[in-house]
Amino acid sequence: MKLIDGDKLEKHLDYLIGQDTRFAKMCNGNDEYSRQRKYCFESDILSYKLCKNVMDYYLVTDVQPIERGHWVIIDDTEQFIAKCSVCGRTEDSRCINDMPYCHCGARMDGDVE
Ligand SMILES: [Zn+2]
Repeated sequence: MKLIDGDKLEKHLDYLIGQDTRFAKMCNGNDEYSRQRKYCFESDILSYKLCKNVMDYYLVTDVQPIERGHWVIIDDTEQFIAKCSVCGRTEDSRCINDMPYCHCGARMDGDVE
């Protein structure tokens, strides 16, 4: 299964159709170019609605977002202790570079405070 960020896609589609709408308003003459532009715009609107429809149809609702954390170095000189910023689990600080995920499931690429 391939998941996508629906909110981000919707924002991008809204941006594109917004740009298109602004351009279409500039082409309001009765010449051939404006008529073709109007036809393209109407086609783009249909595509936009189709994309939104497909997004709604394939919406996945049973996925939990991945929690993001980072390793907090508690002691890096004698006892080598690092702590998960999400659950507090401690690990050997010499091994954290090989641990992209904590045992709690948090992906350890979150922002460091
Ligand atoms: Zn954790």
